[in-house]
Amino acid sequence: MSELRFDGRVVIVSGAGGGLGKAYSLFFAARGAKVVVNDLGSGLKGEGSSAAAADLVVAEIKKAGGEAVADYHNVLEGDKIVETAVNAFGRVDVVINNAGILRDKSFKSMTDKDWDDVFNVHLQGSYQITKAAWPIMRKQKFGRVIMTSSAAGIYGNFGQANYSAAKQALVGFSNSLAYEGHKYNIHVNAIAPLAASRMTETVMPQEILNALKPEFIAPVVGYLAHESTAQTGGLLEVGAGTITAHRWEGTAGVVFKADQSFTPTAVKARFDEICNFDGPVTYPTSIKDNDWVGKLEEARALATN
Ligand code: NAD
Repeated sequence: MSELRFDGRVVIVSGAGGGLGKAYSLFFAARGAKVVVNDLGSGLKGEGSSAAAADLVVAEIKKAGGEAVADYHNVLEGDKIVETAVNAFGRVDVVINNAGILRDKSFKSMTDKDWDDVFNVHLQGSYQITKAAWPIMRKQKFGRVIMTSSAAGIYGNFGQANYSAAKQALVGFSNSLAYEGHKYNIHVNAIAPLAASRMTETVMPQEILNALKPEFIAPVVGYLAHESTAQTGGLLEVGAGTITAHRWEGTAGVVFKADQSFTPTAVKARFDEICNFDGPVTYPTSIKDNDWVGKLEEARALATN
């Protein structure tokens, strides 16, 4: 099987000065893409800035014979990052929204700034870059966008209310853009990666970190970004060489009589049944998959019987 290549494609990777973004940049450049290596060069909590991070990655790509340009803008200035791509390479084909920071704290101690800064980098930053690239992708009828979510966003995590809320928001953002991009051949997917980086090095033992190479995330990002890939609106959890796809599962549910008997006490009496995933289940894939009108008719029919 020949390797998927990206010759002629222009790929923007945000937060590409280290960790996962660096691995993606090297990966795409080695497969023929022209890469915009964006990084503000900030610390883990978003403090400070430096051009060195992006410059080093660009130098490594060039040394290996690849094409890349450094961009030092904050992701909040997404239009300027897209401008860098257009000025250097004339187009934008792929956006990997990857930049991120952490401000982990219990919700009780979290300040408004902790909340806003995390939302700004992850959600607002992904919005700003994608918003600027979107008209270009629509016009050329091609685009691939990847949002970086997190297991913390899917499941929640102690001390990460800000981060997990922003990461789950990126899933909804991704799913909506997948609908809007479809007819323009713009595919949008979200990944929840797990990899050794400065983000995880203090919270995991070294032997596990050794198995969680950022390079093990790049193949799925490469697949999702490729022109031959039809996948859109997906959420993939990926780490240590394993990729799993996620979808929603609902219980069959309970229909109550649509009359005065529908009270909290009635809900309490059947709550185990409502939450029973051992019985029949549903796998809704869109907002239209729940037949609320049919269910209301059923509830009304029960009430009149
Ligand atoms: P990292 O800290 O190594 O990389 C993040 C990069 O983003 C840094 O180089 C940083 O300078 C840059 N950055 C921060 N704020 C920026 C801004 N405003 N503008 C431009 N660049 C900015 O972390 P990583 O582990 O490589 O994380 C990459 C992405 O993956 C993040 O979105 C993170 O939340 C997500 N993620 C990582 C893991 C993991 O296990 N490493 C797990 C879940 C999600």
